Amino acid sequence: MKKHNFYAGPSILPQYTIKNTAEALIDFAGTGLSLMEVSHRSKEFVAVSNEAQQLFKELLDIPAGYHVLFLGGGASSQFMMVPFNLLEKKAAYLNTGTWADKAQKEAKLFGEVVEVASSKANTYNYIPKDYVVPEDADYFHITTNNTIYGTEIRQDLDCKVPLVADMSSDIFSRQMDVSKYAIIYGGAQKNLAPAGVTFVIVKEDALGKVTRKIPTMLNYKTHIENESMFNTPPVVPVFAALQTLKWLKELGGVKVMEKMNIEKAGILYDEIDRNKLFKANIPDVNDRSVMNICFVMNDEYKAWEPEFLTYAKSLGMLGLEGHRSVGGYRASTYNALPKESVIALVEAMKAFEQTKLK
Ligand SMILES: *Cc1c(COP(=O)(O)O)cnc(C)c1O
Repeated sequence: MKKHNFYAGPSILPQYTIKNTAEALIDFAGTGLSLMEVSHRSKEFVAVSNEAQQLFKELLDIPAGYHVLFLGGGASSQFMMVPFNLLEKKAAYLNTGTWADKAQKEAKLFGEVVEVASSKANTYNYIPKDYVVPEDADYFHITTNNTIYGTEIRQDLDCKVPLVADMSSDIFSRQMDVSKYAIIYGGAQKNLAPAGVTFVIVKEDALGKVTRKIPTMLNYKTHIENESMFNTPPVVPVFAALQTLKWLKELGGVKVMEKMNIEKAGILYDEIDRNKLFKANIPDVNDRSVMNICFVMNDEYKAWEPEFLTYAKSLGMLGLEGHRSVGGYRASTYNALPKESVIALVEAMKAFEQTKLK
C-alpha cells in the first residue's frame, strides 16, 4: 500500500534524495567506496559540500557577506551558539512555542533576555503582533514556524536590531529576503535531509561583537574559516541535503515550491473548516502554518479522535498524531509531501464524516 508520510520530523524527503543517497551509500561518485567510508577531505566530498553551499545561496538568493555552514548538534545547539556569539548585554525573544521557549531559556545563561511577547497562556495558538523590540538589544530571536503548535510567521519582519531566526521547519518553503536576517539556522530533518546536519546562514558582519571567549567549536568564525570542515561534518546528511537542493532547483526553486505549499495547505485547511467533525487549532487564518497543520475533533465528537487515527492509518497515513503536548492531529505538509497525500487525507476526513454523521 502507498504510504502517506505526515511525520513532523524526521519527515518526508523527496524520492530523488532517498534514491541517490541510497546509491551513494553503495558507491559514492564512482569511487568504489561507500559514502559512509570516504574521507570528508576527499575531493569528491569537498565538491559535494561546496555545491550544497552554492545551491543554498542560489535558491535563497543569499547576498554577499553571508556564509552557509553545515554543523552538528541540531537546532537545539544553536539555542546556545547564538547567544554565545552575539549576546553581550541584552537579547530580545518572541515566545511563540516550545522551541522558542527553549531558545530563550538558553540565552538567559549569557545575559539579560527580554521576552517581547508570548502566546504561551493561549497554548501558543497565535503569533503576537503588538510588541516592541528594545533598540539596545544585541539581537531579536524569532521562530518562524512553530512545528508543534502550527503557527507561522510568513513574512520577513522589519527590525532595527539584528534578526535571528530558527527556520528548522520552514526553510525553503517560501521566498524570503535573507538580507533582513543576521542568522538563520535549523535542523535539516524537517525539510531538507535526514537528521544529523544543522544549517546556519550567518552574516559575517554580525560576528566579533562580544567580549567573552568562545570555545573553538562553538565559534561561528571557526566554521566560516574552515568552510564547515574544522571537524568531520555529517557527511551522509550533507550529501542528502545536496540531493534535496538539486530536486528543488529542478522543480523551479523556492518560488514554485511556495505556490505548491500554499495550495496543499489550502486544500487541507478548507476541509478542516468545512467538515463538521473537525476544527483547526489556530483561529486566525493569517497565523496558520503552511507546514504543520494542527486540528482536533470538535468537543462533541472528541471520543472519535482515536478512531479516526486508526482509520487513517489503515489507509496508509502515518504520523498524524498531534504532539503529545497538544493532542489531536498534526499533518505536516513539508516540501516533499505530494499533493496526492493531502487529497487522500481530505477524502478520509470526508468519508469518516459521512459514516459518523449519516
Ligand atoms: C525540530 C525543531 C527544533 C529542534 O531541532 P533539533 O535538531 O532536534 O535540535 C528546533 N526548532 C524548531 C522550530 C523545530 O521544529
